[in-house]
Amino acid sequence: MTLVMKFGGTSVGSAQAMRETAVLIQQAQKEWGSVVVVASAMGSKPVKVTDLLLRGAYSAAAGDGETYKRVADELRQVHFEAIDGLLIPEGERQQIMGENGQFISRFEDLCQAVRVLGELTPRALDAISGMGEQMSVRILAAYLRQIGFAAEAVDATELIVTDNNFQAAMPSLPRTKSKTRVRVQPLLDKGAIPIITGFIAATEQGITTTLGRGGSDYSAAILGQALQADEVWIWTDVDGVMTTDPRLVQNARSIPVLTYREVSELAYYGAKVLHPKTIRPCIENDIPLRIKNTFNPAHSGTVIVPDDGNGKGGIKAVTAIKHLSLITVEGKGMMGVPGIAARTFGAVAHEDVSVLLISQASSEQSICFATPDESTEQVIQALEREFAKELQRQDIDRIWAQHDVSIVTVVGAGMRGTPGIAGRIFTVLGAQETNIIAIAQGSSECSISMVVGGDDTGTAVSEIHALIA
Ligand code: ASP
Ligand code: MG
Repeated sequence: MTLVMKFGGTSVGSAQAMRETAVLIQQAQKEWGSVVVVASAMGSKPVKVTDLLLRGAYSAAAGDGETYKRVADELRQVHFEAIDGLLIPEGERQQIMGENGQFISRFEDLCQAVRVLGELTPRALDAISGMGEQMSVRILAAYLRQIGFAAEAVDATELIVTDNNFQAAMPSLPRTKSKTRVRVQPLLDKGAIPIITGFIAATEQGITTTLGRGGSDYSAAILGQALQADEVWIWTDVDGVMTTDPRLVQNARSIPVLTYREVSELAYYGAKVLHPKTIRPCIENDIPLRIKNTFNPAHSGTVIVPDDGNGKGGIKAVTAIKHLSLITVEGKGMMGVPGIAARTFGAVAHEDVSVLLISQASSEQSICFATPDESTEQVIQALEREFAKELQRQDIDRIWAQHDVSIVTVVGAGMRGTPGIAGRIFTVLGAQETNIIAIAQGSSECSISMVVGGDDTGTAVSEIHALIA
């Protein structure tokens, strides 16, 4: 049985964290036989190595010759401290210190080059920002060897082949599969534990790319798919996916089983549990994806499966996104005129603003949509330019915004085919005199979203949460 486990920045964030992570790896190997580890860059708050690397690169691009040197010192401190805390001062210690030191020198060289050129290309950004993972896996693998495991650090640049869309590269599965099998399977066959960098990959030509911020989760899923793993586990710092944000509702609890579709809705609505791209490689290969808590490893966390076989039931989670505006384009002359919606969203997209919810009445006399509060003025101006003629002719009467609203989303695949759930939700909100400003239901019937006023968010979420069985 093969298990792929991904550890985030906190789990490798210090010597102590790595020691605890090693215990989890050890247990997993005992239970599963073959274990593949994917690790992020060191990242215990407030120092996240990837952020530091990026800060160095951006400051150098702006002509600053000092910040990246300070960053380099900080990187040395973070990594050397971990090495000192883990490796007895002989043999491996020297080796790993040297390798990490080389990455940091290379970081300084690259920043220096960026400063001289005054230009920071996406390709250079990937080369620089991916070094954190290259350092952390070397430390973790050396520590595991020291405590008696055959562990080997592997750069995913040797495994995951992507296009050259730097910063958000797309993997090519067939190439990734064959390279991963050739390199990783022999390690597993001899009982060794590969410790693989998350986040990074390489083009066919071997140029380093990255999969996007937070992409280590995705790395684990890609490698799980390539190796046809039996499960993929994402270790994090909560007991899996919660029924709601524990900061909003005290008795939030972890959800034992979620379907792929449900978690997609949640990821979209800002539950920061998983990189959204992680789901697809797992769905397509029927690989259960489990989210577990490093601080509470005995807890089974949340397992994400194709279908939980639970056709009915109801609400599994409720989340909120705050600080939004609801923008409305309205006018009697819009009715039956094709292209208004396309032009509306075209204009918004042109401003690079994301739309989080859309609702249109069948009368076609208005379209409304939610966007982040800070972009409201920009969006309204863009729409006024786009529809200047229609506004003048009064086909469109007005374009206006309601500020400080939230989207409350209720998720649960069992809502499909369970009539009355929407009714129950609206009843509890009505009883609290919470005004619902707009509603949208995903056509998958696996989520319902409501727009409510900012002040009503907390009550709405906790009242709906109370409906969760
Ligand atoms: N280290 C990368 C980041 O901070 C990838 C990850 O942690 O998932 O974005
Ligand atoms: Mg993450």
